[in-house]
Amino acid sequence: GTRQRPLPKPKWMKETVPGGAKYAAIKAKLRELKLHTVCEEARCPNLGECWSGGETGTATATIMILGDTCTRGCRFCNVKTSRTPPPPDPDEPSNVAQAIASWGLEYIVITSVDRDDLPDQGSSHFAETVQKLKALKPEMLIEALVPDFRGDPSCVEKVATSGLHVFAHNIETVEELQRNVRDYRANFKQSIDVLKMAKEYAPPGTLTKTSIMLGCGETPDQVISTMEKVRAAGVDVITFGQYMRPSKRHMPVSEYVTPEAFEKYRALGEEMGFRYVASGPMVRSSYKAGEFYIKAMIE
Ligand code: SF4
Ligand code: SF4
Repeated sequence: GTRQRPLPKPKWMKETVPGGAKYAAIKAKLRELKLHTVCEEARCPNLGECWSGGETGTATATIMILGDTCTRGCRFCNVKTSRTPPPPDPDEPSNVAQAIASWGLEYIVITSVDRDDLPDQGSSHFAETVQKLKALKPEMLIEALVPDFRGDPSCVEKVATSGLHVFAHNIETVEELQRNVRDYRANFKQSIDVLKMAKEYAPPGTLTKTSIMLGCGETPDQVISTMEKVRAAGVDVITFGQYMRPSKRHMPVSEYVTPEAFEKYRALGEEMGFRYVASGPMVRSSYKAGEFYIKAMIE
């Protein structure tokens, strides 16, 4: 076949350097806990900013539960895949909750691989982790970034009523590119329905959130119409970041979207009524989530 040359990385895709007193304390404490963070394992360039907590002092980190092996295979994702991953560790909800509670963060994003192999898609394990953490540290701000649970309402309800502050589920790309980017078991309608259900089931005041990677071949019009549909589903928060290819086996980058274009989507999102919009080349869905959450709730 034809070999595509990878696009050169533009100058704005610079990695930021970690720093700050709080960052150092959080990093030191993490070494005592047996916690694996997505922040470190994915070598996220935002680590210094997220762990420092920014202007509001709300330090954010992301951890993954339900193992390191996913039953799906999205074209952009670097996580291991298997049809039959090992069963979840029944002690994980308690252990993870204790570790997070003693860590010294203000905001935690708990995410997971997809577990199509489990009868409840892993939703009880997810809900239990949130409940245990909430019991140990009631002031902790908790975001659950969940799979689509194949659209099963009982799974969505379990997690949405577990005591979290933010229910997040990523649509990943515009409506038109779902099949090119995500696993064949995922689709736009199912994901939008999950977000709608979460809003319905969760206690009032709970935010719903989704994220889109740009640079997958989408057009600006497709981005805007997708944003409108997301907003119409009652979603409170949206984030935009640049897709970066984890390896040559993954989908190539179609385009490096300019910082100016990211800024336009941010402004447009705010006009549309999103509670907050994080948008920029280096943004991940959990980027400074604690700081943004506090600012959005004060307004
Ligand atoms: Fe990666 Fe999530 Fe897709 Fe699994 S479902 S392959 S973890 S993006
Ligand atoms: Fe961690 Fe997400 Fe922040 Fe990266 S953007 S450092 S993964 S919380």
